[in-house]
Amino acid sequence: MTEEKEEIIYIVGHKNPDTDSVSSAIAYANYLNKKGKKAVPAICGQINPETEFVLDYFKFKAPESLINAEGKKIILLDHNEKEQSLDNIEKAEILEVIDHHRISFDWSKPIFFQIEPVGSTSTLIARKYLNDKKIKIEGKIAGLLLSGILSDTVAFKSSTTTKEDIEIAEKLAKLSGIKNLEEFGIEIKKKKAIFIGQSLENIIYSDFKVFDFSGKKVGIGQVEICDLKEVEERKKELIEKLKEIAEKEKYNLLILIATNIIKPGSQLLFWGETNYIKTAFKKEIKNNSLYLEGVMSRKKEIVPPLMKAFSEN
Ligand code: MN
Ligand code: MN
Repeated sequence: MTEEKEEIIYIVGHKNPDTDSVSSAIAYANYLNKKGKKAVPAICGQINPETEFVLDYFKFKAPESLINAEGKKIILLDHNEKEQSLDNIEKAEILEVIDHHRISFDWSKPIFFQIEPVGSTSTLIARKYLNDKKIKIEGKIAGLLLSGILSDTVAFKSSTTTKEDIEIAEKLAKLSGIKNLEEFGIEIKKKKAIFIGQSLENIIYSDFKVFDFSGKKVGIGQVEICDLKEVEERKKELIEKLKEIAEKEKYNLLILIATNIIKPGSQLLFWGETNYIKTAFKKEIKNNSLYLEGVMSRKKEIVPPLMKAFSEN
């Protein structure tokens, strides 16, 4: 009875799921089902408005929720940091990891582990479908994966975009009937880039990741905006909130990145050991904020110089 249940493989992305995590999980479960495996997609946390729009658009239900990994067979997508994973992940049986972030993984057994510097995890899942002559990709799955690519690359504006992301997105667009890629990309991004009316907690936590940099606890939230004025107007209260959270949750440094999806650039607001920010970006900071022209990627343009700054100290 329970045996059958244990055979299920849960495919799950990171906490605070984004469109790439959710889309790639649904699509990879679908792919494995076609290979005769019992796989189900799962999410760990609330679906954001952008992902909700995408799921509705291509007529999918939100995956089931999974919080505790203990005793489960798991495939991790779109992350490989334990801090960003399901609770009790060390008590799960991890079968495979597919991701496009820096390697931060340690496991006692050999497992399938695929990390590539592409724009999204959806790119890697789409490639599996497209290279598999025996399996046909349905239009709605193609649409989901296309959305994952467009979301993570901010409609190809982010420096994380590779040639392969664009090539695969174009194939997926044909399969899913999406005509104008960039336009659709900005349309989905705008669903989440609604700053006005959101609570401070929602803004900070909507896409939030925790890192361990040389033994220091660093939290980095990212929010997308259509106009820098939206941040300017709420800057003071956001920094106050960062301070409150940092003190309560014992963060050495807490950062909110507000990324402009229309005119590439990011406004950083922060609280804590801000000297690391000064070292990382070699810029004078004032009033707990810093603007970085053209910068859009937390993973590629913000985390690496910060990690370096922490390791040098
Ligand atoms: Mn993600
Ligand atoms: Mn991703």
